[in-house]
Amino acid sequence: MFNHLNIVKRAQWGAGLIKDDGSYDCYNYLTSEMEQYFNFPASSTEEEKLINIYQGGRIIVHHADAYNNVSDEDAMRSIYHFHTRDRQWLDIAYHFLIGKNGKIYQGRPLYLMGGHAGAPLHSSVDCANPVNDGKTYHDVNVSQDFDFRSIGISLIGDYDEEIQPPAIQMTALRDLIDELSKIFNIQFINGHRFYKNRSEVAGATTCPGDYAFDFLHNEYSSIIDTQDTGLNQLASHPIRCSITCVEYSKRLPTFSSTP
Ligand SMILES: [Zn+2]
Repeated sequence: MFNHLNIVKRAQWGAGLIKDDGSYDCYNYLTSEMEQYFNFPASSTEEEKLINIYQGGRIIVHHADAYNNVSDEDAMRSIYHFHTRDRQWLDIAYHFLIGKNGKIYQGRPLYLMGGHAGAPLHSSVDCANPVNDGKTYHDVNVSQDFDFRSIGISLIGDYDEEIQPPAIQMTALRDLIDELSKIFNIQFINGHRFYKNRSEVAGATTCPGDYAFDFLHNEYSSIIDTQDTGLNQLASHPIRCSITCVEYSKRLPTFSSTP
């Protein structure tokens, strides 16, 4: 699908498992409930379904954390670890990450909704608390989530602290955005701060740092998202589904090479 890009695959950077016990089905665009919503043509391939899902969709750009003095591969494993073990999410939150070395890393597969900009779908419950294991929360409206049909890209680095990402990293960001735009006819783009500051989740963010934020506004002014109306209009009816918390931390693989 991304023939023009050299993407470091999950197995190459040492990703662990994706939580696949059904408790995160709301994030899976290929469940029967979601398939009904998207109404994929019969016998669509997975690639055709992905194009259907993200067609006219959105890109949201982030930065991650400093990760000074570690390799980008170590940073990838550390971010995966933080999201899956500490935060109890189903996988690394972003679909793509870009190293300071200019490499593009495969994050969460595109058939899964990202977990980087929206309201937590289970915000009414702390799934990390064992007391909530197995509890089910109904009627989550996935289509109102900023993550819905959005591709999440994160720059490895802290660009509040560091003024400017390496040029090679921004070149890779441009290459990735351009390729995604071609494949999916992306209609909206913006930095995380635009969505976070409009969401109901408490707190603001400066993510992805001023440099990348201004870069998006300068380079992609024709598709910069200014109203956040586009995708919500496209989601003409809500997708309602249920989420179950399960005890996850005990099932995680252990890494020895990550900090
Ligand atoms: Zn962010």
